[in-house]
Amino acid sequence: MQILIIEDEKKLVHVLRRGLLEEGYAVDIALDGEEGLEKFDINEYDIIILDLMLPKIDGLSVLKTIRRNNTNIPIIILTAKGGIEDKIKGLDEGADDYLTKPFSYIELTARIRALLRRGNKADPPVLKIDDVTLNPATRLVQREGKTIVFTSREYALFDYFMRNQNRVLTKTQILEHVWDYNYEGFSNIVETYVKYLRKKLHVSPQSKELIHTLRGTGYILKV
Ligand code: CA
Repeated sequence: MQILIIEDEKKLVHVLRRGLLEEGYAVDIALDGEEGLEKFDINEYDIIILDLMLPKIDGLSVLKTIRRNNTNIPIIILTAKGGIEDKIKGLDEGADDYLTKPFSYIELTARIRALLRRGNKADPPVLKIDDVTLNPATRLVQREGKTIVFTSREYALFDYFMRNQNRVLTKTQILEHVWDYNYEGFSNIVETYVKYLRKKLHVSPQSKELIHTLRGTGYILKV
């Protein structure tokens, strides 16, 4: 699951990103409306969290532009305290839900889950490679009829691979998407998690290797 957060309060962004990453979501950040629309154009997201008071292009304009191009993506707007008119405008413009600042993180994640569960008009399609399937709605990963149990971070990494099949992903890209971009843990974290994934994806002697290492470049998921 890929989340785009468009919010200019860096502290809030940092906290949200941390928490959502820990729950296994991949998180992209845009610190103003313009950057938000750029990222929305380039990438595929499952949900957008959108602040209304934003530099460059305000949240309502961002919302209108997104809705002109994509009617399905769930959008949660964040509004300042007491901004009842903003809320109404936002909902009228096609937001699916809203939260008033300050909000509790637990409430936000509950609303994200609810929106994703609702599948919003269309369930996200099941992703498939070779004999492996990943259902983004249920987070169920199966191979040869067997269910693979991933930790939340392993799931986030595999989800990222599945959405970028046949594309080379550099370690930096992976770190940015699946870990915090300020990540300062040990440098082999990506290698280590790729190893975990490979092991778990090897459900029988017939299981083909799907994650390939490109020396000095990164990784690619392909048959
Ligand atoms: Ca703001």
